[in-house]
Amino acid sequence: MIVGILKEIKVKENRVCMTPAGVKTMVAAGHELLVEKSAGVGSGFADEEYVAAGATIIDTPQEICEKAEMVMHVKEPQPSEYGMLRKGQILFTYLHLAADEPQTHGLMESGATCIAYETVQNADRSLPLLTPMSEVAGRMSIQQGAKALEKTNGGLGKLLGGVPGVAPAKVMVIGGGVVGVQAAKMACGLGAQVYLMDINLDRLRYLADVMPANCTTLMSSKGAIQELLPEMDLVVGAVLIPGAKAPAVITREDLKLMKKGAALVDVAIDQGGCFETSKATTHEEPTYEVDGIVHYCVANIPGAVPMTSTMALTNATLPYALELANKGWKKACQDNESLRKGLNVHEGKLTYKAVCDAFGLEY
Ligand code: NAD
Repeated sequence: MIVGILKEIKVKENRVCMTPAGVKTMVAAGHELLVEKSAGVGSGFADEEYVAAGATIIDTPQEICEKAEMVMHVKEPQPSEYGMLRKGQILFTYLHLAADEPQTHGLMESGATCIAYETVQNADRSLPLLTPMSEVAGRMSIQQGAKALEKTNGGLGKLLGGVPGVAPAKVMVIGGGVVGVQAAKMACGLGAQVYLMDINLDRLRYLADVMPANCTTLMSSKGAIQELLPEMDLVVGAVLIPGAKAPAVITREDLKLMKKGAALVDVAIDQGGCFETSKATTHEEPTYEVDGIVHYCVANIPGAVPMTSTMALTNATLPYALELANKGWKKACQDNESLRKGLNVHEGKLTYKAVCDAFGLEY
């Protein structure tokens, strides 16, 4: 199959949907790879590396879309790209259609077969193409929280790990899923005293088994959070109720219980945020202060580390891209139920129930 790798054009997006190593695997399987000029530069991959891996560099997205039987992206196609897609062509990328009516209509009008990374789902309900970005965001949350605690950034001026003779900081992580575990592991590794909270007792049992000794697992509740807040230096919000807006686990009133200069990092901000005082911020201006508490609420945390994020994403997407290219979308979706769940649009029709529901359309 001819596979096109498009350059990201969404503002400040530096990831790319396939590494040169991924291209090499696809080429070895007999596919022809067309890579848009400079597509990998933001992630540290030069055009020469793609050529060495067996790809052809193409100047324009138009030319790629004309030739390719499958086009890949990281972020959803932008309005200028809808018209380049066509019937009989596969689009494989993050789409997030339920929150984007113009794009949904654009893709329906294109006639293309659109498979969304974010709705590819395993039998255990896990989302294999979202997990790598949650892993990156979880790890980054502690790095960013540590920075927010620095005095020059409005924080307490406290080092997470302390030093010999000086106690480490206390870190609360609310939500023990993918983000929460990676956050807790990083904080533990830096030597902080960590409290990892969840509402799922089975999950807490598992976490208590696998987390290091400086991590205490706790059943999450309003009372338990309020009891601990006065001692906490950093709180990471990592809760998710699938398909719903995040619950406000810390309210504005609760901020009064905290030390001035303590920090809140709300990773769940992309689902509306799990602290009442959270509002989305950007990498340019990542923090703001409410009642003396530093807030970090960046909605696309992995965007700050495109080199790592690109490699993590390709590790996860490549087996699916390969299956689509080897078998074509129909056979690939018949054989692989997880991939079939990724199918959102086909020849002008919406094929994913939650997206139909979002626009009041029949499934
Ligand atoms: P996950 O489903 O793996 O984990 C969520 C956990 O929260 C579950 O274990 C669940 O039991 C727990 N939970 C639910 N309600 C709770 C409550 N009231 N108190 C305590 N725990 C509760 O989800 P995840 O992959 O870890 O993602 C977490 C959030 O991070 C999501 O909102 C996701 O969209 C977001 N995220 C943000 C970014 C970013 O750049 N900002 C990147 C990736 C993920």
